[in-house]
Amino acid sequence: MKKPVQDMSTMEDKSDNIVLFYPQVSDLAKQYVVDTLNSRWIGQGPKVKLFEDRFSKKFGSNRPAIAVGSGTDALHLSYILAGLKPGDEVIAPLFTCTATNIPFLYMGVKINFADIDPETMNIDVNHVRDLMNEKIKAIVCVHYGGLPCDMDELQTIANEWNVPIIEDAAHAVGASYKGAVIGSISDFTMFSFQAIKHITTGDGGMLIVKDTELLDKAERIRWFGIDRKSKQAGIWENDITEVGYKYQMTDIAAAMGIASLNEFDSHSNHRKTLFKVYEEELSKCERLKIIGSGFNDREHGAWLFTVIVEDRYTLQKKLRDHGIESNQVHFRNDRYSIFKEFTYGKIFPNMDKIEEDYLVLPLHTKMTENDVKRVCFVIKSGW
Ligand SMILES: *Cc1c(COP(=O)(O)O)cnc(C)c1O
Repeated sequence: MKKPVQDMSTMEDKSDNIVLFYPQVSDLAKQYVVDTLNSRWIGQGPKVKLFEDRFSKKFGSNRPAIAVGSGTDALHLSYILAGLKPGDEVIAPLFTCTATNIPFLYMGVKINFADIDPETMNIDVNHVRDLMNEKIKAIVCVHYGGLPCDMDELQTIANEWNVPIIEDAAHAVGASYKGAVIGSISDFTMFSFQAIKHITTGDGGMLIVKDTELLDKAERIRWFGIDRKSKQAGIWENDITEVGYKYQMTDIAAAMGIASLNEFDSHSNHRKTLFKVYEEELSKCERLKIIGSGFNDREHGAWLFTVIVEDRYTLQKKLRDHGIESNQVHFRNDRYSIFKEFTYGKIFPNMDKIEEDYLVLPLHTKMTENDVKRVCFVIKSGW
């Protein structure tokens, strides 16, 4: 059998391997899940409500929070609530998880991809400004790795054209911009609780909405279009007048989420400390540039630690030989055939420049500061 040239598949979590991601599931989360399984409610019930309230208090300055089955559900829901219709156009990031952009394809919305800012890999606000026109009905941004985008500049553009901003904050739980926690800023902010995110509920998501009047509609769309409150009150008059989805979170998942919120600060601080150790260790490394480092006006959420390196593949191979997993994680979305109709013939010079050169290093709550130093030692010994 012919062996592949280089095997960069997922590494085994064994001996002293340092893997790229590890789900954060605490004993408290396990206990809360068992408690829930022993209770009367396991589907969407009181724990979902409690999780929403607590999450909103911590990250959404008490704005309405709607818990759903995934981050993708939350994004789709936000696009519906933003009033997007077939034929509408949006500006969205070229470089992101496909989850950001796939819901537009459900809806027949046309995507105008914006290039990256090469310093942060976030959306390039100058490109956003160039792309704006009266057909654009929303701007979507992603806080890549956990570094908040240039929200003031984006808000200025959004105000000028009177369109909402939807923040994909899947990477940015616990991040902040000019003192404001991510979740408390824009019209819509979406979070993901997928397996390897800061907070995991197995799969799950949360949407924070600024306009409190949208809450009832959001809750209906989450559940087929049915008004559950009046249904549960035993009233039969329950016409369904808008098509909804089955996007709710379960109490089993919410139990994990509540536990994670209780422990969030210590986990988040640990991630931020590891991020700082990487910065200190690698800041003088000449063949490498750290993405999203050195900002004083915003705090990084420390989900991904990303570097730009020469000979990325050689470094990745060397790290692997030393039992350290690394990878690119996200890819420019114009590589996928499903998005070709929106990207055909367009060029994205900033993305073109670094698409082969970025690399994500391990960062998760199972790691110690010494693990980070071990990764950095291997890097600093050259490749
Ligand atoms: C994880 C992620 C999402 C949401 O993904 P789900 O798996 O649906 O929770 C959205 N955007 C980005 C950038 C992500 O990393």
